[in-house]
Amino acid sequence: MTHKLTPLIAGNWKMNGLVNELSQIETLCDALKNKTTPECDVLICPPVTLLSQMSAMCSEVLTGAQDCHVATSGAHTGDISAQMLADAGASYIIVGHSERRADHHETDGLVNAKAKSALDAGLVPIICVGETHAERLGALAITVVEQQLNGSVPDLEGRQVIVIAYEPVWAIGTGLVPDENDIKTMHAAIREWLINRFGDNGIAVRILYGGSLKPSNAKEILTIPHVNGGLIGGASLKADDLLGIINTIGA
Ligand code: PEP
Repeated sequence: MTHKLTPLIAGNWKMNGLVNELSQIETLCDALKNKTTPECDVLICPPVTLLSQMSAMCSEVLTGAQDCHVATSGAHTGDISAQMLADAGASYIIVGHSERRADHHETDGLVNAKAKSALDAGLVPIICVGETHAERLGALAITVVEQQLNGSVPDLEGRQVIVIAYEPVWAIGTGLVPDENDIKTMHAAIREWLINRFGDNGIAVRILYGGSLKPSNAKEILTIPHVNGGLIGGASLKADDLLGIINTIGA
C-alpha cells in the first residue's frame, strides 16, 4: 500500500560550508517564502559551526545535525549531544551515515543509541542504511539493509518520529545511481520491514533515497513508490541545484 506523505528534501552539507555560504540559504528561504516551490519539507544539515545562524534565517528551511553523541552531557571532548543540537536549533539529526560508519567504525548498536538520544531530545533521527557495491553484486543488498534496520532502529514511544534514509554506499558522491527497479524493490522492502516492526505506524515513516540525487534524475527517483524524499549531499550545497530537485516534485 502506498500512502501520501509530505516529501522531505534533506541536504547534508557534510564538512563543507563557511559563513559566506549562508547566502545559499538566503536564496532558498526567498524561494520557499514566495511559495513558488511544490509542497515539501526542506531541511539542511550544515556543519555544526553554522547551525545556530542557519536556524535563525527562516522557518521555511528546517535545520539538522549530521551526528550526535549518545550521552546528554559529560566528559566527551569534542563531542556534541542531541540536547545541545536541539538548543542550537536542530530539529533532525542524521545518524549512521555510511561515512561515519566507515570513518568512525560506528556499529548498528551505536547508531541505535544515537537515534534514541535524538528521540529523547525531541529530535527526529534520520537513520541511514545501505549496502556496499560488493554486497549489491553478491545479491545481498536487502539482507544487509534489513540487518542494519534490525540493529539501528530503536523502539518508539508515543508520538516519536523517525526517518529512514536508504543510501547505497557505492552511489554516494560517485555519480552512480541504482536502476529504478532496484530502488523500488529496496524501498518496498524497507516499508514492509517498518510495518512488521511498527504496525500501521510504519506506513507514516518517511523513507528517503540518497546517493548522487541531482536535478536531472530527481523526477524519476522521487516518483518511485515509497520514496518519500531525498537525502542529498553534493547537490544541496547550491540553492539552485536543490531548488532544481525540489521543483521536480509533482511536476
Ligand atoms: C550523502 O552524503 O548522504 C549523499 C547522498 O551524498 P551525494 O548526494 O553527494 O551522493
